[in-house]
Amino acid sequence: MKRILGIGLCVLVLMGAAATASPIGLGSIGDIAKDTVDVVKTMSMGTKQEMEIGSQVHPQILAEMGGEYSNKAVRDYVNRVGQKLAAKSTRKGINYTFTVVNSSMVNAFALPGGYVYVTRGILSAMKDEAELAAVLGHEIGHVEAKHGVERMQKIMLAEKGTKYAAKGGGKAAGALGEKALGELTKMFSKIAISGYGRKQELESDRIGIRLANANGYDPNGAIRLFQTLLKLEGGKSKGGLYASHPETKKRIEQAEGEIAKIGTKGKATNKPQYAAIQKKV
Ligand SMILES: [Zn+2]
Repeated sequence: MKRILGIGLCVLVLMGAAATASPIGLGSIGDIAKDTVDVVKTMSMGTKQEMEIGSQVHPQILAEMGGEYSNKAVRDYVNRVGQKLAAKSTRKGINYTFTVVNSSMVNAFALPGGYVYVTRGILSAMKDEAELAAVLGHEIGHVEAKHGVERMQKIMLAEKGTKYAAKGGGKAAGALGEKALGELTKMFSKIAISGYGRKQELESDRIGIRLANANGYDPNGAIRLFQTLLKLEGGKSKGGLYASHPETKKRIEQAEGEIAKIGTKGKATNKPQYAAIQKKV
């Protein structure tokens, strides 16, 4: 994949209408349909299948995004915070995997089946654990609300019932064919950069704020994070902090409304602990 500098954005920026309207992976439906090993059919996809698909796409995406960051303390820390948040998710039965990606891009993203990623870049940009909780909570939100499944089902629906996978070939049950795996990887690579769409991003923001708050984290971490991102995007230099970023402004407004609604039960920011980890990034 082409190296993308700067800020990528599942968690960070809602793409404008033009960007969200662009078809993702739909041009390859035929290829997926022809590629056959029994995995999923039109409208049904169980949690087990979702996790199987996630586990197969995971190494592909990870390789494209720069591989896993090797520092164990950093990995363990992110995993610990992530697992704590995931335990409060309303969606049960998913085993979450939190991965730190060795990339300077400021980004975070999620695949179906509980695969969540944060980059070194975003770890450097954040200021405390409450902000990290907002990011991880947002990504867990995509899994909880099945946004990845939704995307895969769109492809399958377009096939009008055709299985895009069939039995045989000596492959393990649930294994994706090479072509299907390639197409799904391509689709989720794009989503990792551009997000799941406006509605889905806002929904994940709300879930993330709720999860952070329920785990005792200051939910305002989400707002502080958005403000940092606006600065990184250079919003100020374009005439007013929000002028060129109505979407991020919308996210901040929603977050403020959400926090007003649920109250700030959470107070923790764990700033010193976060700073200690950040030094290793
Ligand atoms: Zn997102």
